[in-house]
Amino acid sequence: MSDENIVPELGEGTRAVRVGLPEPVKHEPTLPGPVFAAHYHLPGDPTGPYAYGRDQNPTWTLLERAIGELEAPGGEQVETLAFASGMAAISAVLFSQLRSGDVLVLPSDGYNVLPLAGEQLRSYGVEVRNAPTGGDAQLDALDGATLLWLETPSNPGLDVCDIRRLCEAAHERDCLVAVDNTLATPLGQRPLELGADFAVASGTKQLTGHGDVLLGYVVGRDAGLMAAVRRWRKIVGAIPGPMEAWLAHRSLATLQLRADRQSTNALAVAEALKGRPEVTGLRYPGLRDDPSHKIASQQMRRFGCVVSFSLPTRARADRFLDALRLVDDATSFGGVRSTAERRGRWGGDAVPEGFIRFSAGAEDTDDLVADVLRALDVATG
Ligand SMILES: *Cc1c(COP(=O)(O)O)cnc(C)c1O
Repeated sequence: MSDENIVPELGEGTRAVRVGLPEPVKHEPTLPGPVFAAHYHLPGDPTGPYAYGRDQNPTWTLLERAIGELEAPGGEQVETLAFASGMAAISAVLFSQLRSGDVLVLPSDGYNVLPLAGEQLRSYGVEVRNAPTGGDAQLDALDGATLLWLETPSNPGLDVCDIRRLCEAAHERDCLVAVDNTLATPLGQRPLELGADFAVASGTKQLTGHGDVLLGYVVGRDAGLMAAVRRWRKIVGAIPGPMEAWLAHRSLATLQLRADRQSTNALAVAEALKGRPEVTGLRYPGLRDDPSHKIASQQMRRFGCVVSFSLPTRARADRFLDALRLVDDATSFGGVRSTAERRGRWGGDAVPEGFIRFSAGAEDTDDLVADVLRALDVATG
């Protein structure tokens, strides 16, 4: 079977195991190993595709094709660029698209490094406006805007905004839209189909899912816009290593399996937390009575692996984390091993001291739920 046979009608799992693979060549591996090269043989005129390692690498090419097929499976022409990290990808869009005098609309409740990028842009003469994700509040900040940045579901608050509605409103005002798709992954939501100009994500989280790789990507359909993003990658040099790119591609084969199990586990943990009197502020877009559920069900196919909630005090949250046996106290999310952390320890998010971001892994559902309930009991003391 060749890559051309990966038609959109095939199921997501079927496509996931084959995305980006090259044409079969006798005696060659299915997924060629990482190409470690700073430069390539290049006699005569310097023509592409492979000349210098900061610009191109065959291992990235396969990964980029794979991610493009996941974000835009309908056969639409898109361009994908891999980066050294999610922040490298985010910065590449922000810094390649915005000039002095432009207006950027950021979510006020987005990833906690986003405000730093906003500050930097402000120092270059970009006007930065902030509005929350919930209730599509960014709509009110769009007049005169150049670029609208969405993060949905937002990390760590798990609010959801209506991507299609916001894209329509932005495009009416000639404003571009980028969506951070880290939490949902392309199997959870496809921003380009909902109207976005860029789908951007950290591949460090559930996309690669094993907590051993930092990676980012940008997918876009406009060749001119993407040329500017590519140019930025060349200028800054925020490129992924071949090993990381290869590990990421290898991991995509199990993305559907992982995403299914992890969202099942997240929902089960959320349901279990619902019954506990000490838990407040429980959020999971997959819960029927969650404020995000209605819009999430319209635009998402899976609700993700992250559950947010608060325990009454910082001490109680610390005791809970300490008592967990199957869940590592660690930052980040999306890995096959469950993790949780008291988010307030970083100081960057507007969250209560007892706020916990819980990332459901691929453990057996009953084991995970039992561990969470037992740790809650221990924390109660
Ligand atoms: C982690 C994260 C990022 C940053 O990704 P890195 O790979 O850590 O640079 C960006 N956006 C969201 C929503 C994230 O969770």
